[in-house]
Amino acid sequence: MKKFVLLLGIILAASSVFFLNKKDHKQIQVKKRVEKKETASTVAATEVEPKEEKIKIAIDPGHQKEQMSEQEPIGPGASETKPKVSSGTEGCTTGIPEYQVNLEISMRLKKVLVSRGYEVYMIRESNDVRLSNRERAEMANKSGSEIFLRIHCNSDENSSVHGALTMCPTDANSYCTEIIDDSQNLAKTIETSLCRETGAQNRGIIQTDQMSGINWCKIPVTIIETGFMSNPEEDRKLSDEAYQDQLAEGIADGVDIYMKNK
Ligand SMILES: [Zn+2]
Repeated sequence: MKKFVLLLGIILAASSVFFLNKKDHKQIQVKKRVEKKETASTVAATEVEPKEEKIKIAIDPGHQKEQMSEQEPIGPGASETKPKVSSGTEGCTTGIPEYQVNLEISMRLKKVLVSRGYEVYMIRESNDVRLSNRERAEMANKSGSEIFLRIHCNSDENSSVHGALTMCPTDANSYCTEIIDDSQNLAKTIETSLCRETGAQNRGIIQTDQMSGINWCKIPVTIIETGFMSNPEEDRKLSDEAYQDQLAEGIADGVDIYMKNK
C-alpha cells in the first residue's frame, strides 16, 4: 500500500510537471504570436504612412481665346440666358487680352496655394479651350474642391477707375441658396486680404445673381476682379510678375483665413 501511494505520488508529481510545462509552452507560444503580430502591424504602419487629406481649391482663369456666343441658362431652371463665354477685356496700354492675364495670375495663385499645402484643381491651363461658364461651375462642383475662385480683370469707360472687387450671390439668389452665406463670406475675406497685400483700392463686394458661373455652383464661389485693364497704370501692373505674385499671396491669405474660420 505504501508503495502504491508512493507510486501514485510520483505519477501525480510527474504529470503536474508535464502539464505545467505544456501550459508554459502554450503561453510562450501565444506570446510569440502576439509579438509576431505586433511586428507585422508595425511594418504595415511604416509601409503605409497615414495620408493627410489636403484641402482642394478650384481655380477658374476667366474667359478663353475664343468667345462662345451661343446661349445657356444663367442658372438651374432659369429661362433667362447669357452667352456661354464672353470675350473679356484687354489692356488699354499693354494690349494683352484678359484671358492671358487671368491665366498668368491663376498659375501663380496655384503655385502659392500648393506651397501652402493645398491641392489645386485648374479649370484650364491653356487659352485654347472651349468651356462655358456653366461647364466651368459644373467641373468645379465635381472636382471635390472646397471653394471655387474665378479670376478676372475688370474694365470701365472711365480710365481713371482702378482697384479690386469681388462678387458673390445676393441673399435672394434662388439658384444657389445653399452657398450664399459662405460665398459672401469668401468674397469679403479675399477682397480684404487682396487689397491689404497689394495696396489696390478696395472697391468692395458686388452682390449679383446674373453670373452663370456663380449660379450653377454648389460650392462657395467668388469672382475676383483683380484690377482694371482700362486704367493704364493698373493695366501695366496686372501683367507685372511681381504684382501678380502679390495678388496671388493676397488671395491665398484670404483662403487661409476663410478656411481657418470655417
Ligand atoms: Zn472677365
